[in-house]
Amino acid sequence: MKVLKFGGTSVGTVESLLNVKSIVDSLEEPAIVVVSALGGLTDRLIATAHMAAEGDEAFRENMSQMAQRHFDIIDALVPSEARDSVTDIVRRLLQQLETIYIGTSMVGDLSERTLDKIVSFGERMSSVIVANILDNARHTDSLEYMKTEKWFGKNIASRNITDSLIRENFPLPLAQTVVTGGFISRDKDSGDITNLGRGGSDYTAALLAAALDADLLEIWTDVDGFMTADPRIIPNARVIDRMSFIESMELCTFGAKVVYPPTIYPVFHKNIPIKILNTHNPSAPGTLILDSTASLEECVRGVSSVKKTAIITVSGQLTNNVAEINSRSYNAMARKGISIFVVAQPEAEKCFSLALSETDAEVALETLREEFAPEIQKGEIASVECQKGLSIIAVVREAIKEVKGLGARIVNTLLREGVEVKAISDGASETTVAVIVPEDDNDRALRLVHTACFG
Ligand code: ADP
Ligand code: ASP
Ligand code: MG
Repeated sequence: MKVLKFGGTSVGTVESLLNVKSIVDSLEEPAIVVVSALGGLTDRLIATAHMAAEGDEAFRENMSQMAQRHFDIIDALVPSEARDSVTDIVRRLLQQLETIYIGTSMVGDLSERTLDKIVSFGERMSSVIVANILDNARHTDSLEYMKTEKWFGKNIASRNITDSLIRENFPLPLAQTVVTGGFISRDKDSGDITNLGRGGSDYTAALLAAALDADLLEIWTDVDGFMTADPRIIPNARVIDRMSFIESMELCTFGAKVVYPPTIYPVFHKNIPIKILNTHNPSAPGTLILDSTASLEECVRGVSSVKKTAIITVSGQLTNNVAEINSRSYNAMARKGISIFVVAQPEAEKCFSLALSETDAEVALETLREEFAPEIQKGEIASVECQKGLSIIAVVREAIKEVKGLGARIVNTLLREGVEVKAISDGASETTVAVIVPEDDNDRALRLVHTACFG
């Protein structure tokens, strides 16, 4: 059994939905189909919510345009015998949505809880529509099985309960194809509508595949596969035909937006291969992600970048206790639920830097200053400073340490072209060499590094 996920870029228009229909209707056996909201709709739902909260009456016009977009798709694609009932379901959802917008505009305030409810309508509508466009499919409401819990203020999937609810809601073998919405969920305790984070439909699909021991997870999107870099920044990036789970996980964590980062882990754990395929070009072979390393013609598998990065640099006479300081920093960050992208070394042994998301920088700085207060007082640590406005450029492959001199080559390439390298992480990871550069130089640095690796 396969799980197929179609992103917003695959379900945005009548033309692309016809491709989805032809891909799913020609499957040999029933499958699970996960869909995102219509392309761009989640952004629009959010923008409209802010307009309503700020008293901008144009939210009403936005609301009716979003409604019309759904009705147009229903009229064009849902067979006449189901059209009235689908229109009715979608109309009722739109009425609920409008009531929430009107309430938001009256109160003049938008809570996170209300916004989570608002964005859920995208997948709730698209999934019902797609289920009725396909030849022989039923719909299952993801709010019934996808459960989250709070973790440091974020909603994260509640795996055990979700796994067993998935098995209850999707009895195997499937009698017919089932369509369900990605991204959306409910809090396991309060029942409030939540979601898995922007881009989270990939993760819904992975959780379904893992819980049901699927044979394959297919991520259908708008590019021919996982590429050696983001094709919007590097137009000559190439499709990678095969890569390992670890390589894909690293590239996604370091900003390759083609798959939402948490997606890889559940399927990797169950050794379920992933294919990245193009809805607009279904005959392209795509990228196969699986548990083994494919041979490599180039020195690396791919490059990616993360903007809005900060580094926190701890400096002092760390020569004797750098390992201890490192592990205490990691533990302190873990206690606050902050992820560290890389540990970088600007100046060996005298200091080290932790690269993390700018949004975590203030809390991280405060936490580390507290953690090292005794050392700061004794003068062993001279300073703990933060710098924002940076980007990480990551270069990924399995066994990257086998590529001798890679870090130096990348740094030299960048310096030669006048890109300032703030820090480098080389040797700390089995799969990634990363450099930290000013965010303004992100695209240029990515281009230079891509050329250095792929020609
Ligand atoms: P979907 O709506 O299908 O979820 P996304 O926009 O989330 O689509 O992801 C697909 C996009 O990811 C592509 O259009 C591409 O611009 C971008 N992207 C970023 N990095 C990569 C990469 N390394 N390989 C392929 N696509 C990438
Ligand atoms: N619709 C959601 C978003 O735009 C989830 C997804 O597309 O994966 O973030
Ligand atoms: Mg996506």
